[in-house]
Amino acid sequence: MSPKSFQDLIDEVHEKGICQECGGCVSFCSSAEFDVIGFKDPYSPPIYINKEKCLECGICYYICPQTHVLDEELSKTFKFSDFSSMPIGNFLDIYSCQASNEEFLEAGTDGGVVNSIINYLIEKKIIDGAIVSKVDAPFSREAFFSDNKDDLLKASGAKLEISQQLDEIQKFSTYAHSISELNHYKFKKLAVVGTPCQIYTMRCMENLGVTPSQNIYIYLGLFCFENFMFNNAQIKKFEKDFNIKFENIEKINIKEDLIIKLKDGKIIHVPFNHLADYMRPACNACNDFTNIYADISFGGLASPDKYTTVISRTEKGKKILSNAMDEGVITRLDIDNTRKNKMKESITQFSQLKVKRKEKFMENLN
Ligand SMILES: Cc1cc2nc3c(=O)[nH]c(=O)nc-3n(C[C@H](O)[C@H](O)[C@H](O)COP(=O)(O)OP(=O)(O)OC[C@H]3O[C@@H](n4cnc5c(N)ncnc54)[C@H](O)[C@@H]3O)c2cc1C
Ligand code: SF4
Ligand code: SF4
Ligand code: SF4
Repeated sequence: MSPKSFQDLIDEVHEKGICQECGGCVSFCSSAEFDVIGFKDPYSPPIYINKEKCLECGICYYICPQTHVLDEELSKTFKFSDFSSMPIGNFLDIYSCQASNEEFLEAGTDGGVVNSIINYLIEKKIIDGAIVSKVDAPFSREAFFSDNKDDLLKASGAKLEISQQLDEIQKFSTYAHSISELNHYKFKKLAVVGTPCQIYTMRCMENLGVTPSQNIYIYLGLFCFENFMFNNAQIKKFEKDFNIKFENIEKINIKEDLIIKLKDGKIIHVPFNHLADYMRPACNACNDFTNIYADISFGGLASPDKYTTVISRTEKGKKILSNAMDEGVITRLDIDNTRKNKMKESITQFSQLKVKRKEKFMENLN
């Protein structure tokens, strides 16, 4: 392969409109203190800020989820052979879990399991803290380092001096430059939480042995079918399309569709294929729904209300989960193999839908 640089990412990724804004390229380059690229605003792909300083090392190119240069290497590491026939990825077990702690359960998106596990790892001194994120402005999430329960509850609750209804939608914004935040905690042992695009680029860094991946102890991955963009005009259109008022929204969850709970108790289900006008276009070019390279993956799909679907993928992930269950940090539903198979089927179905959506999108792009 000819030597690559950030210019190749601009040509092959940004100009096609498929930059997922995962932050991987910026994180590596600024961690290596090259100071060459950065984000100008949270809604646009990164740009050159000091092009003349670019060493043309190509690392930003290799770790980008849209170049797929390291796919084969990652498949070997994760003993993963065929994404098209097994888009759910390799896994060890699947559960429906819930936080035992009322505060995490109440503030959590689903069962409050992700933040409960992080809190447990901090209390046990297995990690120094985690890179999580909270809403900092309309449709923007600020990544931050948390090493205590109060901060973790802020990451769950997403409270800001804006309406609670906006907070609900903003839970599903990926504009959290979590990976860049890693650079500030070079001497800590960390957990990171991320969407599939974010976990992919961090695993690529780990595979290449480049900074700042050396500090990551555990990769906690969220399911993600797509991400949303809402400006004022889109909010108005959304209200008209679905005949609701934002001010009447109590809570939003994403499972097999977008679930809107209204203050009067009514529940509205909006299928993903009705949300095309609000979806971030680059998400069309993404095929991983369940976060296949995480140590543990978490989603709402296939579990009842107030429970999180949890997939253990690595031995490390499995052990942490089992210890958290044994110590009563999280509880799990007692489900038999028939129910587990149903959960797998439903998750596989969504994973396949995402793979097909990408194939179609890329065909039209080429
Ligand atoms: C953009 C997005 C899309 C999703 N799409 C789906 C879907 O289609 N189907 C599905 O079943 N589940 C989806 N999920 C996952 C689901 O909404 C819950 O996050 C998951 O079930 C965990 O719930 P919990 O209550 O256990 O987590 P909590 O205990 O509430 O913890 C959530 C953690 O995630 C972190 N976090 C939240 N948003 C981000 C972000 N953007 N980037 C990095 N970290 C973040 C928070 O800081 C917190 O630490 C999506 C999540 C996101 C963020
Ligand atoms: S120095 Fe390397 S990582 Fe940074 S922009 Fe240039 S090619 Fe990319
Ligand atoms: S690494 Fe991430 S942010 Fe950088 S170009 Fe690729 S998708 Fe975009
Ligand atoms: S669908 Fe989710 S994982 Fe894929 S690019 Fe969009 S935000 Fe990232």
